[in-house]
Formats: sequence, structure tokens, C-alpha cells
Amino acid sequence: MRADVLIVGGGIAGSTLATLLSRSGLDVIIVERKGRPGHPHHCSGILGFDAMRELLLFSEDWVLSEVNWSKFVSPGGVELEVSKPLAKVVNRSEMDRETWELALSSGAKGMLSTPFKGLLSRKEALIRGEVVSFDLIVGADGTLSSVARTYGLPYLEVELGLQRECELSVGDGYIVRLLGGSKFSWIQPWGNHAKVGAIGDIGDPLRDLVLGSCPSALGNFEGNVIPRRVREKFHGRDFALVGDAAGQVKPLSRGGVLLAVRAAKLLAEELVRGWDNLGKALARYEREWWRVNGAELALGSALRRYLEGLSPSDIDSVFRTLRECEDSLRTFETDRQTLPIHAMPKTKVLKLSLSRPRASLSAAVELVKYLMRW
Ligand SMILES: Cc1cc2nc3c(=O)[nH]c(=O)nc-3n(C[C@H](O)[C@H](O)[C@H](O)COP(=O)(O)OP(=O)(O)OC[C@H]3O[C@@H](n4cnc5c(N)ncnc54)[C@H](O)[C@@H]3O)c2cc1C
Repeated sequence: MRADVLIVGGGIAGSTLATLLSRSGLDVIIVERKGRPGHPHHCSGILGFDAMRELLLFSEDWVLSEVNWSKFVSPGGVELEVSKPLAKVVNRSEMDRETWELALSSGAKGMLSTPFKGLLSRKEALIRGEVVSFDLIVGADGTLSSVARTYGLPYLEVELGLQRECELSVGDGYIVRLLGGSKFSWIQPWGNHAKVGAIGDIGDPLRDLVLGSCPSALGNFEGNVIPRRVREKFHGRDFALVGDAAGQVKPLSRGGVLLAVRAAKLLAEELVRGWDNLGKALARYEREWWRVNGAELALGSALRRYLEGLSPSDIDSVFRTLRECEDSLRTFETDRQTLPIHAMPKTKVLKLSLSRPRASLSAAVELVKYLMRW
């Protein structure tokens, strides 16, 4: 078998890319290790308005709930509230399945129950006992990407996200409780019920945290590892990575759908435009991805570093200062999480920075690191 592009992973990143490349006339093979694309999926399904707009396919049939307000609670109980439509909660299994179907109907050859296990030679892989030759391989195979490892890239540093469906109601609200640093637990609507979840280090008592807010569970624990940061590099001479495989998640909420879809679209655009010079096209993909997402990512990562440098009581007092900036908080959007910082009076930003100089210094170092990549 032969393909112009072999895509490993039939999640949202892989299927989006496969659709666009196939529509442009390239021969695409996409392999997915699961027997049913999208099933099971361990995602909360919260999509902001940019994500809904930028997906190739969006169906109201996937929507389980709406999020029309959000409450952020500091470790000591200081609350910040944003009241406006913020997101929809979708059934990720259905979304990923239908996007996989879209890729196939666009001409991609899809193979389920087909794990990628490594290369035979620079441009050949053994897939289900058959040699597949290709010009380019794309790893859309999630945080623990086999494609990245095949090309000698290190494992990503990860956190763990755990959640469970519970017999609770939060109406149309989303409640986030900071646990210290940038770790948090949450309660979100899920149809007539709720999902309770927590994100932290692998050794943290996340199960207990979820159980503590979920007296009557309706399902089993679900979860997955989440990249801590974007990879230093997400392309090489013969390969590119998209989505979680590239570490492309939002630094504050850790949502990854929007950035994965953007990566797939940018990569498709560059490949179609520059197929005759793949090296240049891949380099342009990485540059463009940073150009589009760099500013939000740099500031989001700096804020996360700032939070990680604060004690729980420091976070309480930062929240008290933020409560004085209600108008700025109202600018918060699920897909543009740093907008309140831009909207805040500069004197407040300065006050917050100067009152916690160590946390501010490590945030500034993080900001500079990201800005240099951008
Ligand atoms: C608990 C939790 C909640 C989350 N909530 C949200 C949220 O509300 N909103 C949001 O935007 N993001 C959320 N995320 C993150 C989001 O799920 C991911 O960022 C997103 O799914 C990334 O898409 P992807 O296509 O890059 O990777 P994935 O969705 O991980 O897809 C990768 C695919 O590759 C396949 N695969 C892996 N290895 C191989 C192999 N060797 N061969 C073949 N196939 C392979 C996998 O089976 C999988 O189908 C959450 C994550 C977790 C863990």
C-alpha cells in the first residue's frame, strides 16, 4: 500500500487533518487503534465558541448541556463569578466518530483496530502485516505519541485528569475550585446530571477529591494523561505532530480540542501549498501555529507559573484583588482565557506582580521563554 500521508490516530486532530488533505487530492491512510473511533472518550466535552466555529463539523445533536455561568473558587473559598454564555458541553464520542466518518467520506482510507507500532524504514511502516510506504507521517496519536517516540522525541511531561458522572445538578453552570498551584477540581453539567473531575499530578489524591464531591456516582472513573506544555519542536524532516501528541493544550484549563483543530488545519494548509518542498512546509506549519496561538499561550503559561508560585492563602488574596475588577473578569472567554489580564487596570496588574515577586519572576521567565518561540 502507498499513501502520500500516513496519519496515526483517528481522534479530532487526525480526522480533521485526514479530511482536509483528502479533499485536496492527497492520498491519505489514517490508522486508529480503537475498534470504534471516539469510543470510549475520556473528555469533559467543554467547547468554547471559537472551537465550535473552527471545527470542520459541529452538530447541535452532540450538545448535552450549555454553560451560561462559571464560578472560580480559591482554596480558602473566595469566589469569582462570570455570568454569560461560555461554552457548550458535547458528547466527544459522537463528535470524534462523526469527524472520522467525514474523513472517510472525503476519500481517506481509514483502518480501525490498527495500532501503529513503528517504522520499517525511513518511509515505510508495517501496518496489519502489510508494508505501507508514505512521503510523510503525522502523529495525531495523543499525549503518549508512538510517532514522537519513533522519531526519538522524549515523552511529554504529563498531569492526570480524572472525572466521573454523578447524580448532581449544577444547572447550566461550571464550578472550578483551585486546589493550590494550578491544580483544580470541577463540577460541570452533563445532560441531566453532572461530571465531577480533578486535574493534578499522578501521585495526587485525585480519586478522593472526585469522590468527595460525588456522593452518588453514575459511572466509572474516566481519565487520561494531559500534556503539561507544548513540545519544543513538533515537526522533523519526515514527520509532524498535531494535537495532544504535540502537547498543544491550553495552559490554564488544559482543553485541547481548539488547538488540535487549529494545528490540523494549519498543517493541511501548508502541506497542500508546499507539497513539493515538504521540509519548508513543515517548518512553516510550526511557525504559523505559534503565530496564531503564541500570544495567548505565552500569557496563559506565565499565569499558570504565577499560580504555581503562590501559597493557597496567596491565591485567596489574589482572588480578593480580582473581585475588585468585575468588568475585566466579564471579558473571560473559554477560548481566550487571558482576556481579563488585558482588560485589568495596569495598576492592579502591577500590584499583583510586586506583592509576590518570586511568583512574578518565574512567570516573567516563562513568558520570555514562550515569546522567544513565538
Ligand atoms: C479528563 C479530561 C477532560 C478533558 N476535557 C476537555 C474539554 O472539556 N475540552 C477540551 O477542549 N479538551 C479537553 N480535554 C483534552 C482533550 O480531550 C484533548 O486535548 C483532545 O482530545 C486532543 O485530541 P487529539 O486528537 O490530539 O488526541 P486524542 O483525542 O487523544 O486522539 C488520539 C487518537 O490516537 C489513537 N492512538 C493512540 N496511539 C495510537 C497508535 N499507536 N496507533 C493508532 N492509533 C493510536 C487513540 O486511540 C486516539 O483515538 C480533556 C482531557 C481529559 C483527560
